[in-house]
Amino acid sequence: ERAVEAGGGTCRYDETMHAAQLDRLSLEADLRRAIDAGDQIWVAYQPIVALPEGRLAGFEALVRWDHPARGKVPPGVFIPIAEVTGLIVPLGRLVLHRACHQMVRWTAMRGPDADPLFISVNLSARQLGDRDLLDTVAGALAESGVDPAQVKLELTESAAMSHAGETIGLLWQLKALGLRLSIDDFGTGYSSLSYLHRFPVDSLKVDQSFVAAMCRSTESRDMVRIIVDLAHLLKLEIIAEGIETAEDAKLLSDMACGFGQGYLFGAPLPPQEAAGWITAPGSA
Ligand code: C2E
Ligand code: CA
Ligand code: CA
Ligand code: CA
Repeated sequence: ERAVEAGGGTCRYDETMHAAQLDRLSLEADLRRAIDAGDQIWVAYQPIVALPEGRLAGFEALVRWDHPARGKVPPGVFIPIAEVTGLIVPLGRLVLHRACHQMVRWTAMRGPDADPLFISVNLSARQLGDRDLLDTVAGALAESGVDPAQVKLELTESAAMSHAGETIGLLWQLKALGLRLSIDDFGTGYSSLSYLHRFPVDSLKVDQSFVAAMCRSTESRDMVRIIVDLAHLLKLEIIAEGIETAEDAKLLSDMACGFGQGYLFGAPLPPQEAAGWITAPGSA
């Protein structure tokens, strides 16, 4: 305490801390209201394409928040708040419902002869711990009428592995609904290979940090190659994210990485704009 008085500047530091806490609390209260009202929250859709040809395969749903006073709040800011406060549970439910309904509309637009697209929805660790998760997911599938095979849930490696023993049963129950599971940000966590082998997952997503560093670092390139080979060995689909350059795409295609996602192909878009992908010639 004496250090605080002696420091002079330390006191201001405390005020800054206090202000930051108040700001966070106000953001939390605003987020809670926004989720209840639903109108400031929307879902952006980023195309995921088959490599090397670039044919549309599906979309990842990414939540967006347009705050009336602050403008666009980045997910990197409000998702952590939602996770700590538990607001990620109702927020995740909102995103899942919207994404499933959107997939039904796009499937109808494409017509019965087109290849089915998939929609990927993110699940955080906190949602995996929610005892209503299974009901929530089953409810979104039933209410929207989406083909469950078109729905993928993305869980990060650390979320999946943190309570691996308990999670595995839940993952099998989710799989029993007919949907697909993907491990997100693969390579950044601490997967035990024995768990990975036993988990009922369908795909791995190479973390974008490896993809970003691939061009200048052989180590990162080797890392990506190992992950792609591992996916092949385990008969899993493999998706590389954060592809920004044609060189990245070429390197990944040469490694036989099946799918890609990133600004090179398309940014996350509001549904009306993402629809351009659905109807574009050659996307079927
Ligand atoms: P993520 O699941 O790893 O999503 C990929 C992030 O990379 C997205 O950021 C996306 O906009 C961005 N991205 C896409 N292509 C590129 C590229 O070529 N280069 C670079 N540098 N970035 C690219 P975003 O939308 O800001 O989301 C950040 C994170 O927030 C997501 O990371 C995910 O962990 C979380 N998140 C977003 N929406 C949801 C949601 O509905 N539920 C949950 N639980 N988490 C979400
Ligand atoms: Ca993701
Ligand atoms: Ca990711
Ligand atoms: Ca991430």
